Amino acid sequence: MDNGAREEIQIRGIAASPGVSHGPAFVFVKKELEIVRFIVAPDKREEQVARFEGALLQTKQQLRTLRCEIEEKLGDKEAQIFDAHQMVLEDRALIDAVEKEIFENGYNIEYAFHTVSNRYVEAFSNIDDDYIKERVADIKDVSRRLLHNLMGRTEMEMEGFTSAHILVSDDVSPSDTVRIDRNRVSAIVTDQGSRTSHAVIMARSINVPAVVGLHDITQRVKHGDILIVDGFEGLVIINPSEQSLFRYGRIRAQKQNAQNLFQSTLHLPALTSDGAEVKMLLNVDGSESADQLLRSGAEGVGLYRTENLFLMGDGLPSEQEQYEHYRRIVETMRPRPVTIRTLDIGGDKQMSGNMLTVDESNPFMGFRAIRLCLEYKDVFKDQLRAILRASAHGNVKIMYPMISSVKELVAANLLLEESKGELRERGQAFDDGVEVGSMIEIPGAAYVADHLAKHCKFFSIGTNDLIQYVLAVDRVNDRVAHLYEPNHPAVMRTLKFIFDAGRKAGIPVSVCGEMAGDPAYAALLFAMGADELSVSAGSLPEIKYFIRNITKKGAVEVMDRVLDMEDPAEISNLLHDFYANNIGEL
Ligand code: PEP
Ligand code: MG
Repeated sequence: MDNGAREEIQIRGIAASPGVSHGPAFVFVKKELEIVRFIVAPDKREEQVARFEGALLQTKQQLRTLRCEIEEKLGDKEAQIFDAHQMVLEDRALIDAVEKEIFENGYNIEYAFHTVSNRYVEAFSNIDDDYIKERVADIKDVSRRLLHNLMGRTEMEMEGFTSAHILVSDDVSPSDTVRIDRNRVSAIVTDQGSRTSHAVIMARSINVPAVVGLHDITQRVKHGDILIVDGFEGLVIINPSEQSLFRYGRIRAQKQNAQNLFQSTLHLPALTSDGAEVKMLLNVDGSESADQLLRSGAEGVGLYRTENLFLMGDGLPSEQEQYEHYRRIVETMRPRPVTIRTLDIGGDKQMSGNMLTVDESNPFMGFRAIRLCLEYKDVFKDQLRAILRASAHGNVKIMYPMISSVKELVAANLLLEESKGELRERGQAFDDGVEVGSMIEIPGAAYVADHLAKHCKFFSIGTNDLIQYVLAVDRVNDRVAHLYEPNHPAVMRTLKFIFDAGRKAGIPVSVCGEMAGDPAYAALLFAMGADELSVSAGSLPEIKYFIRNITKKGAVEVMDRVLDMEDPAEISNLLHDFYANNIGEL
């Protein structure tokens, strides 16, 4: 790549996960490649042929490597598919036809190759023969690979990397997040997305910067381009100049100093200087090592998202498989509590092959989470038994996502009791006193929180969903990301209403949405009545440090003023000032 010669480009998006990263890009595009067509001047046509030859060589080399890997893992028979792919690339008639398109019609190589391979596919597709049909699939596969190489794009194959790369993608779906090797990602930037999309939640959990909602970053960046990602300001710099590299080197050093300061209070309680305490818990998805969990400084797990197990494989995980996963986290955290959330599939978390989930025009309003579990009772009870069995090994709590009515909560509790009965029959151990909580993330649930409180032992507020439903703003749609406002007065009032309901009913209320991971909002939620804040590992040290720097009295004064304000910007400014005035010298 000729990075040195290319000009620096700066693109602004949504600052989604804090931090600064610098390194090579890994461009992962799932949508169809856009093939542009243009006419190349006669004296430049040889260059197009040279690019074609380069891409042929690169593709053949990739196929050889893949063949070796597959042969080792699955045997020679499976690996033979790549021999067929090699043959396509060596087909003289195809190569001649592509060169003809370049020399005679003057087309650029991408268009020339695309046209010829499509012609082959169409001709073969009309022949009713199984062998030929397989060859059509080979041509499609290998053509796609070659076009990716020509255009400097890569499919999601991070295996070849020895160092970390910046993941550049149109979007990172929850099922992608379970396939990505997190040790090789140093930042995430996406075309789509908003602050609570799952790419962002993953970035925060692995503590890497993210900028999302960049619209066309995948079109502008090529695989291997050098980038700076500024997750504080929401800025991506392509081919940074010497000045930018220098400036960001200094910013990184300053941020590192701040991080070191936050680490100094990591293992102390989140206690204000006037003696009020909030418990700091961790959000996990089950992929964390014991070391990561124990080093986090968390007093427990406040949200264990269990979807990964369901998104990872081709089928449903068995009760035993789930039990082993849950047990590992529970044993690691013992005696600290681990709140395991039952399956929240649906919405933007779709299972492959439409297993359980279905295509819907309005998935966030549709067949999701507890709604789906109450219909697929066997799947739900497999999970409940697995969680109950894990409760024999430590301190487990269960919570249901997307509860919208007492009826749902009661139905879920009934299935939990049935599951307990089944374990008793089997003679398997569990904690009979396991506490059950309801997530409050639907406005309807907020309004009937006093009723819900009679059927559970705690509330956990999911602000990611709550905000989208209170304001009717799709949480993953970058077109309306500016309307997704945690600082909206309606959000403030709804939150206060839930905390008051929890207090009146005498049950603890925690917050596990991303809002709790912002220090100023964390203080506000604490002032409103949060007993616990559950956040990603990347946010926890700063929140703790900040809480230790404030007084509860000061936070309550801010809350009183916030609840009177009608302008979201005014609320943001007040919170920003509160943070700046209390964080101290960084
Ligand atoms: C939430 O909605 O705030 C939440 C914690 O759950 P998720 O982001 O998994 O929907
Ligand atoms: Mg939610």
